[in-house]
Amino acid sequence: MIKSKPQSSAPKKGIEVICGSMFSGKTKLLIEKIKHFKENNYSVRVFKPEFDIRYGNKKIVSHDNKETYAIPVKKSHDIITTSKSSDIIAIDEAQFFDEDIIKVCKSLSKEKLIIIAGLDMDFLGNGFGPMPSLMNIANKITRLHAICDICSGKAYHTYRKSSVKNKILLGEKEDYLALCKKCFNKNTTKNV
Ligand SMILES: [Zn+2]
Repeated sequence: MIKSKPQSSAPKKGIEVICGSMFSGKTKLLIEKIKHFKENNYSVRVFKPEFDIRYGNKKIVSHDNKETYAIPVKKSHDIITTSKSSDIIAIDEAQFFDEDIIKVCKSLSKEKLIIIAGLDMDFLGNGFGPMPSLMNIANKITRLHAICDICSGKAYHTYRKSSVKNKILLGEKEDYLALCKKCFNKNTTKNV
C-alpha cells in the first residue's frame, strides 16, 4: 500500500542541489526549505557529515544563526538506513561525503525528494568531492553567490587566507574570503 501524502501538492521526487561559495547562504536556503516542508506536514530528515561539529553535534546552523536538527552520519550509506519513513531528505555540507553519496542519492530519489547543499568548488577552484557528480544527476540546481570581499562583485569562489594545506579545514569567516572570479584568479597562486 502506498501511504497517502499529507497534501495534494506532494513534492516532486528527484534531486535538488544548492551550491555556491562559502557565505552565499546555502545552509540558510536549505533550512528555509526544510521549515517550509515541515510546516506542510512532510517528514523531513536532515543529515550532515559526522565530523562537522562546529555548532554542536546534532544541528546545522546558517551564518545568520538559523538552525535545525540534523543527524550526523559517518558514511553516506547510513543515510539510507536512517531515512526509510521520511518524505524528504536534506543533506548539508555534501562536499565532505564519500563518493557513495552519488549512488545513495540516485537510489533514494526514486522515492523521495533529496535536497543537497554544498560547496561546488574548493579553495583552489576545483570541483569539491562528490559535488560535481551530484550536480550532474540533479533535476534542479540553485547556484548562490556571496559578495566579493574585495570588489563587492558576485563571489562564486572561496579563497583561503590560512596557509594550512588540509582541504577539510572547516570554515569560519576569519579563515576564508568569498571572491569573484577576477579577484580569485588575481590572488590564487598556482600551488598544484
Ligand atoms: Zn572581486
